[in-house]
Amino acid sequence: MHVRVRPAVRRIGSRLLLPDWLAITIDTTVVTWRRLDDRELAHELEHVRQWQRLGRTCFVVHYAIASFRAWRGGGHWYRDNAFEREAREAAADRAMPRRMRTAAHSRHAGSPRGPRPHTPQATRNG
Ligand SMILES: [Zn+2]
Repeated sequence: MHVRVRPAVRRIGSRLLLPDWLAITIDTTVVTWRRLDDRELAHELEHVRQWQRLGRTCFVVHYAIASFRAWRGGGHWYRDNAFEREAREAAADRAMPRRMRTAAHSRHAGSPRGPRPHTPQATRNG
């Protein structure tokens, strides 16, 4: 991942993307108008993973489709886009202290095949 901090792009991004935009990831390059903190970097890193997972052309198409779906569903093309939700979750994971992260992961890892079987209990009085 390459991060390019370019204060001059803030204004044009505000017009072309979102008024309060911060960064845009294109393939493995993140363009931003200011330095990003760890959480913001984790968000952009997730976008890099998405680009790599889908490939350049497919990512752009899938992102556009996700934006359309979000908008058609009454949401916002950016905030409710599935790729943005995924990146926000990755950033939230990054922000969580390691101790809590481990606990959260072990919760997810538990019982992959559904609810645990009931523990047999002795019945009283039949
Ligand atoms: Zn994003």
